[in-house]
Amino acid sequence: MTQQLGAMQDWKLRVTHLIDHAAREHGDREIVSRWADGSETRTNWAGIRHDALRMTQALRRLGIQPGDRIATLAMNHSRHLVTWYGAVGAGGILHTINPRLFDDQLDYIVNHAEDRVMLFDKIWAPIVERMKPRWPTVEHYICFDNSEPALHFEEWLSPEDGHTEWSDGDERDACMLCYTSGTTGNPKGVIYEHRSTMLHALSAISPPVFGMDCRSVMLPIVPMFHAASWGLPWAGAAAGAKFVYSAVNDGAVLCDLIEREKVTCSAGVPTVWLALFQHIDANGGKLPASLETVVCGGSAMPRTMIERLMRQGVRVAHAWGMTETSPIGTTGAETWNWDELTFEEKVTIKSMQGRPPFGVEIRCVDLDDPTKVLPRDGVTAGALQVRGPWVVKRYFKAEDDAVTAGQWFDTGDVGLIYPDGTLHLTDRTKDVIKSGGEWISSVALENAAIGHPAVSEAAAIGVFHPKWDERPLLVVVKKPGADVSGDDLREFLLGHVAKWWVPDAVVFVDQIPHTGTGKISKKDLREQFSSYAWDAGG
Ligand code: ADP
Repeated sequence: MTQQLGAMQDWKLRVTHLIDHAAREHGDREIVSRWADGSETRTNWAGIRHDALRMTQALRRLGIQPGDRIATLAMNHSRHLVTWYGAVGAGGILHTINPRLFDDQLDYIVNHAEDRVMLFDKIWAPIVERMKPRWPTVEHYICFDNSEPALHFEEWLSPEDGHTEWSDGDERDACMLCYTSGTTGNPKGVIYEHRSTMLHALSAISPPVFGMDCRSVMLPIVPMFHAASWGLPWAGAAAGAKFVYSAVNDGAVLCDLIEREKVTCSAGVPTVWLALFQHIDANGGKLPASLETVVCGGSAMPRTMIERLMRQGVRVAHAWGMTETSPIGTTGAETWNWDELTFEEKVTIKSMQGRPPFGVEIRCVDLDDPTKVLPRDGVTAGALQVRGPWVVKRYFKAEDDAVTAGQWFDTGDVGLIYPDGTLHLTDRTKDVIKSGGEWISSVALENAAIGHPAVSEAAAIGVFHPKWDERPLLVVVKKPGADVSGDDLREFLLGHVAKWWVPDAVVFVDQIPHTGTGKISKKDLREQFSSYAWDAGG
């Protein structure tokens, strides 16, 4: 018997459908931008679409062809949003660049991507000036908020009327390119498709993820240059949500915006929420009452922060993902028996990384034998693998696939999965410490150390040891004016982790090295302490 083909309509999963929908069904829903100079502008989804069509015309006038890369070096604002849709509307591939990367990384990724156009914020003009001679592929520089030293964005669009069609193509065409920050080796380009991005957007608006609809007012604190801004510019159009953008991530500015614009939902890394709380504590205010949902990820969200938000009635979604997963992997969705749990139990569940929404599959495999899939018993930790339609298959320009047989992608994270599917991350593969053949979680050591009142920042690394292969070394930055000895700290840790996990030595430093995305650079730390002599330690 031959299988019958279905007979439904052809409607390619291309992201331009998202902006068409937003403009048609939610055209007057506002997009607010608070700029770096303190000024504010307002447009709406219909306005974003019109400007994106004009940008499509302007790009074609520059000779941009489908598949060409269009780069941005910019913070969060409406012109950046126009660029997301304008670049893909012309068939281009949007390449968002993190301005905080180091010069050699900026050099590498722009040349690797072969970007032809670069759109940037005035505050990043010094990068452009510095890097121009090293970016031979870039033919056009356009500035979002100033006419010097390049063409102004509005001026560039001014001859265009928006009477055009989006470029057509296949739903598997590339639409966006994001590079990982390259904590090991050169950054790697992840090339998203129209189809993968569309499926990701549909998942992003669902209740277990951002839970957005046209009544939502979203303040994306996650930068538009980081991990595709967690897919929010695409998802927001599918939902028709109001967006509030801020080009600066200052606690006072964000609080004021949440209050005035009645923001219901926000998304960002833990440090941003710390800054917000510091502002609130210093000024005696409180979290604006409109805020219903906070989505937090990128690194582990501290329990105290989760507790504080939840006590104020905010729904916390602690999410895990990576550039390679578009980036939604797991989200802190509520369990079916949520209402029966105690507050403490709820905080414990939210302190973990949550469960995958439909479209993502996760599993953990043995760290030494990756063919051995581990049970979901909430005990056995292993290497986290992921698969699904918005998970990377091959890095940009790579010859080999990045996935192992059966399509599983190795995340480089270490975790365990509970029987109900909840993921608990315990480390990164490269950061786990192997002492006498047993694994020690560097994250658990750091979390425990951070609980000491004198500790501002802590990092645990494995250092060569003649008897145990590796032993943990704790590197600590003290809070200003605080005093604590290495032995005090080791004593404190005894109450929090297994005795044999306690670091053999503690080293105090003025600062710990960070990567371009603000995460602790264990690679640099390991280099710094590679010849550490245990005898000399404290
Ligand atoms: P980069 O690799 O460029 O720093 P990514 O955003 O892709 O940027 O980083 C992904 C990594 O961040 C994950 O592999 C994981 O190690 C870490 N991460 C993301 N979310 C969480 C979370 N909720 N808890 C702990 N770690 C997280």
